[in-house]
Amino acid sequence: MVGPHPEFIPPARPIIGEAEIEAAVRVLRSGRVVQGPEVAAFEEEFGELVAGRHCVAVNSGTSALQLTLMALGFGPGDEVIVPSFSFAASANAVRLVGAEPVFVDIEPGSFCVDPEAVAAAVTPRTVAIMPVHLYGHPAAMDKIMAIAERHGLAVVEDAAQAHGATLHGTPVGAFGTAGCFSFYPTKNMHALEGGMVTTADPELARTLRLLRNQGMEQRYANEIVGANMRMTDVAAAIGRVQLTQLAEWTEQRRANAKFLDSTITGLVTPPVADGARHVYHQYTVRATGNRDAAMTRLTELGIGNAVYYPTPIHRLKPYLAEDGTPGPWELPETERAAAEVISLPVHPSLSQADLDRIAEGANLAGGAR
Ligand SMILES: *Cc1c(COP(=O)(O)O)cnc(C)c1O
Repeated sequence: MVGPHPEFIPPARPIIGEAEIEAAVRVLRSGRVVQGPEVAAFEEEFGELVAGRHCVAVNSGTSALQLTLMALGFGPGDEVIVPSFSFAASANAVRLVGAEPVFVDIEPGSFCVDPEAVAAAVTPRTVAIMPVHLYGHPAAMDKIMAIAERHGLAVVEDAAQAHGATLHGTPVGAFGTAGCFSFYPTKNMHALEGGMVTTADPELARTLRLLRNQGMEQRYANEIVGANMRMTDVAAAIGRVQLTQLAEWTEQRRANAKFLDSTITGLVTPPVADGARHVYHQYTVRATGNRDAAMTRLTELGIGNAVYYPTPIHRLKPYLAEDGTPGPWELPETERAAAEVISLPVHPSLSQADLDRIAEGANLAGGAR
């Protein structure tokens, strides 16, 4: 039995620095702790990341997705097109409002939803498309928006992993009817927990504000049935600090990825689509040989590694057909990706020595049998 490596490089490293701690303490001392001035300021400042769209802060990325689908009036009998190769939250949000996810395959290069598969999955019940900007790579939004316009569908971008990613210069979260971000600790920026909905539609923004707070704009003058999905001011204050660092951290992630691209030959490095600015929430390679052996080797070498996601959503228990089988889906690229991917550390806290070790380790792991 080998013990843990003495200089293990973690796959992710959430940052909670002195500035975050001071911001949290400042809010606690102020006494205004929920949906107050820090939340309003965070919403205002986050708008700069999404071409000035309205921003509505909530308590998680999953809440952002769920509340958006609710605000758009979707529910039982409605179908939402989602990739199966994503975190379960994407499909969970659809089910939480009573609608049905329709799973489609991904493009093998970007790991994001395949626009042709999206077009083929539209039925008279389809109400929305939910592209996921997986690993920080923007989905093919130009093509997806064209399909949505042709069929009169809403587009809800799952941008939980892609703060600051762009396609042909337009930021994710600024294409669709709405964009949904997460501020979970391992994301490119965090607020402990938190989420943001971005939209160009002021009416949708207002509905989201009502829904996150019991249907109230004026206290006790409830207009509709709503939930409690408010963000705390502690979270918002931490998010504001992180937002000031995001551009620098993103450049560091991109520089780390560039180095790994140029030095890893033993595993298949991630391609980037034309016009896409990848923000590398994950640096995800493919092992075309024995993945288990490659991961064991990486772990022995003290290099953090993980599979996002080993089981496509359509194979998870809540999404199986009634007879316990995976249903009618044919998703060969999804199945292949789930069997081949390994995410390597790419976070901004890596040193050059770490990066050298990751590249060397990946090349050794590629040959592992
Ligand atoms: C993290 C994540 C979510 C959910 O965000 P939470 O803040 O954890 O609720 C949704 N979709 C994707 C693709 C994610 O990675």
